[in-house]
Amino acid sequence: MTNSPLDQITLRSLKGVGLALEKKFAVIGIHNVQDLLFHLPFRFEDRTRINTISLIRAGDQAQLEGEIVTSKILFGRQRSLQCGLLDSSGIVNLRFFHFSAAQKKSLQPGTKIRCFGEVRRGHNGIEIYHPEYKILRPGEDLPVSKTLTPIYPATEGLQQTRLRNIIQQALVLLESTNSIKDYLPASLIAELKMPSLIDAIKLIHQPPLEIPLDWINNGMNQGQRRLAFEELLANRLCMRRFKLQSNQQNAPAFNDSDKLLSPFLKQLPFKLTNGQQKAFLEIEQDLNQSHPMLRMLQGDVGSGKTVVAALSCLKAIENSHQVALMAPTELLAEQHHINFCQWLEPLGINVGWLSGKSKGSLRSQQLESLEDGSCQLLIGTHALFQEGVNYKRLGLIIIDEQHRFGVHQRLALREKATVNKLSPHQLVMTATPIPRTLAMSAYADLDCTIIDELPPGRTPVNTAVISSERRESVTERIEKSCANNNQAYWVCTLIEESETLQCQAAEVTAEQLTIQLPNIRVGLIHGRMKPKEKSDTMEQFKSGDIQLLVATTVIEVGVDVPNASLMVIENPERLGLAQLHQLRGRIGRGPLQSHCILLYQTPLSDAGKQRLGVMRKSNDGFYIAEKDLELRGPGQVLGTQQTGLMSFKIADIGRDSSLLDSVRDTSEQIMQLHPEIIDPLIQRWLGDRVNYVNV
Ligand code: ADP
Ligand code: MG
Repeated sequence: MTNSPLDQITLRSLKGVGLALEKKFAVIGIHNVQDLLFHLPFRFEDRTRINTISLIRAGDQAQLEGEIVTSKILFGRQRSLQCGLLDSSGIVNLRFFHFSAAQKKSLQPGTKIRCFGEVRRGHNGIEIYHPEYKILRPGEDLPVSKTLTPIYPATEGLQQTRLRNIIQQALVLLESTNSIKDYLPASLIAELKMPSLIDAIKLIHQPPLEIPLDWINNGMNQGQRRLAFEELLANRLCMRRFKLQSNQQNAPAFNDSDKLLSPFLKQLPFKLTNGQQKAFLEIEQDLNQSHPMLRMLQGDVGSGKTVVAALSCLKAIENSHQVALMAPTELLAEQHHINFCQWLEPLGINVGWLSGKSKGSLRSQQLESLEDGSCQLLIGTHALFQEGVNYKRLGLIIIDEQHRFGVHQRLALREKATVNKLSPHQLVMTATPIPRTLAMSAYADLDCTIIDELPPGRTPVNTAVISSERRESVTERIEKSCANNNQAYWVCTLIEESETLQCQAAEVTAEQLTIQLPNIRVGLIHGRMKPKEKSDTMEQFKSGDIQLLVATTVIEVGVDVPNASLMVIENPERLGLAQLHQLRGRIGRGPLQSHCILLYQTPLSDAGKQRLGVMRKSNDGFYIAEKDLELRGPGQVLGTQQTGLMSFKIADIGRDSSLLDSVRDTSEQIMQLHPEIIDPLIQRWLGDRVNYVNV
């Protein structure tokens, strides 16, 4: 048995593990001995010495040994058992709020114990609540532990002592068999100056005493870095493998023809920026290949990604292929529809529309024109890829504002859209820049194009952070601004995560503002209005009939009214920075100096102050994205916790970002020189998740 790989040794073969315990381990994803070794402690305690009672202070973690000298039940607000513990230097009280009769009996005066716990300040001097303890038999001399004591993520009914004992057995097995395979070649490990896998595992479970405890508790342990590295590497390899597989698929290769591109550029009221030209050039090169493009287009809010998307559409259409342009919300899809109709219909292009709400004959006509190929560009929401929607010659899929998409969905989409073994090209556009570290890890299957400049003549938005107690001065400001023919937004943000409540709040606010500002034409837009009502309202705002538009975050994306130069955002402290930046990007689009007012609720937390401070200081989406990641963490920033994207066992993109460059380089090296370790690495770290991806 001992020579079989550790992932084939069952938990039951360990001492003290029965059926019940095995089930509990399964709950936390531990099924075999190797899993136990990868179940890492999240902090350590120092139990290598016995502390002296007279020297301990509140806040210390202390290990004490002594004799129980008093034992009584206290009837305060909550019944508790209090035991006085005496050593040669003094007495400290141990307190148990939950205790059994047997426990009380075992802690009688005269009993010797060893205990460990956090020291707190109690009513009468210092106390330790619920210490871990062990009763010493008369004359028993219990050795102190020689290593730091790991504290593991546990689950109901699985105590630390038990868990430690079982993992200890796994470590002994590891020690005696060494049968856990280190897939990384020794030369590579040496180059990276990292410990071997086995050393890393030992280091993590039993770090040597010389390393400061706070280092270890902050993930600075070399062993932990090694495992985080391997996990990130496995993730990256998995994405790169998708990419390679994708390169082996066939896609329609387009030619340079210029039938549509030149006329389009001629009719455009502005010249492309260098950034836009460079971006399109990269895309165009991809579209000329006979394998599918998988590219992400990044650019700050207002950098003009839409025109680049339009150019890409034309390229496909020139080459007799259809394009599907998908947006996450109906409102954004509609804005695109309006834009693209204006741009492309004069060129004789048939632009179609499909949303979940398209019904009846309109829908069936639309579907027919797709199947016979007469519809060249179809714009809409997720409905574009529903059952029954069949394209004749789909050549390009454009996904706008793709934050909510993971690699799984991208693949699924391509599967659905593949016709006659030809996969369409994919271009995904992000709403705001994605921090480099996230792009490197979550989107490693995509090539990245960045538009690195804004169109000329933009003035950075001036941002003020104002307490809602000064709401009146803000409405006065709106009045003045609108009197000067400017337009304004008033954005009501999410309350309690409920869309209904958010819409109600916007309705109430719109009513109040209508009363407070009798000379101003106030409009309202929110997600629960009918599509027709929404687009009518947007048209009225565009034409200037509405001066002040009260909105929910539905205007976050895609709304483009250059004359709007003032924006009030209520409760900005509830939003992520990327989202605030995106909202704020609705203004500052015309020649006027624009102003954004972040109207926060008091009291504002320190974290809130810091975040809003970032918004006040900077208009640079790339900088803001990095800060957002720093302050909120990757799951929040991507908004994709639910898809399982970026959930790591050990690695933490924020903490381990310094590893990413070498993860990238190493993954390329492995694909070149050691392709045989790719599968086992992915299997070890992603296991079941990959299978799901492959369906
Ligand atoms: P985003 O990158 O945020 O999606 P848009 O594509 O919506 O930005 O463009 C923002 C605004 O800038 C639009 O009104 C668009 O017409 C305008 N625009 C785009 N490119 C240029 C350019 N090269 N020169 C001037 N204005 C431009
Ligand atoms: Mg956009």
